[in-house]
Amino acid sequence: MTIQVRALAGLPLARGGLDRHGEVRSRPGVLDELRSDPTVRAVVLRGRRALVTGDALELMMPSVLPEPELLVYLGRTTEEDRNTPVGTGILLWKLADDDAASITDDESRWLDLRRSGHLLSDQDVGVLATSLAIAGWHEAEPFCAHCGSPTTVRNAGWARYCPVDGTELFPRMDPAVIVAVVDPAGRILLGSNAMWEHNRYSLLAGYVDAGESLEQAVVREIFEESGMRLGTPVYLGSQPWPFPRSLMLGFVAPLADDQDPEALVPDGQEILDLRWFTREELEDPSTDVILPGPSSIARAVIDDWMSGSWSR
Ligand SMILES: [Zn+2]
Repeated sequence: MTIQVRALAGLPLARGGLDRHGEVRSRPGVLDELRSDPTVRAVVLRGRRALVTGDALELMMPSVLPEPELLVYLGRTTEEDRNTPVGTGILLWKLADDDAASITDDESRWLDLRRSGHLLSDQDVGVLATSLAIAGWHEAEPFCAHCGSPTTVRNAGWARYCPVDGTELFPRMDPAVIVAVVDPAGRILLGSNAMWEHNRYSLLAGYVDAGESLEQAVVREIFEESGMRLGTPVYLGSQPWPFPRSLMLGFVAPLADDQDPEALVPDGQEILDLRWFTREELEDPSTDVILPGPSSIARAVIDDWMSGSWSR
């Protein structure tokens, strides 16, 4: 069986819109220079949420903000956006909760990317996904991996340094594969996770193991979670999923030629139920199946499959 699909462009959290301007990160004093520059703006984080007005990031002048607990130079804008011209420098300004509440404690002004990322502009998505990914890394890895000493922030927020043994640490993301398995009848395989409500279904997914290729991870994960053996996976596209630090790599894969699609075996731990769905079943307005949220790559892949653009 052959599958031909097009690469998925415009994935919800991979819409870009940020020039990372990495060459200035190592310049001494660059953060002090930027925070006193009246043209620079700051995206404000409170925990994992960002300050917004409506569906747009509220970009603040650094001089009016309380002292941050984390400061990172994210880069320069590439689109004209409200009051900021192209090339505006953007700082990540993460505040302690009390300080953030002093700006506003109106809950509707603090946006959750996972829930609402699809509503943001391309530029705001790039800024916020990067902010959460880098902030998540700083939170998770404050100590030296070699000697356990506390490390200090360097490179405008893009590295940490151990003053005891000189180790430098850099931001990490964890690659995870997410797979649309399709059978010879053109149905798609969705699973219901043990952590979810019973009628929520999504694509099967899992982290890439140490020493594994992406294609090997696809084949292994699907076999572990469903008992299905696959043909050759085809890469679709990727997007960051900084909750806290995944990189989701989307694939579509056919079943192996001799694989019976009805021999599904949910792993019983992570995946409690597995079903093959037709397009008609998922399009049926009376279905009670809940699909993944609109910011996820899973939803983008399912929507693309439902559009009928894949040939079989
Ligand atoms: Zn160390």
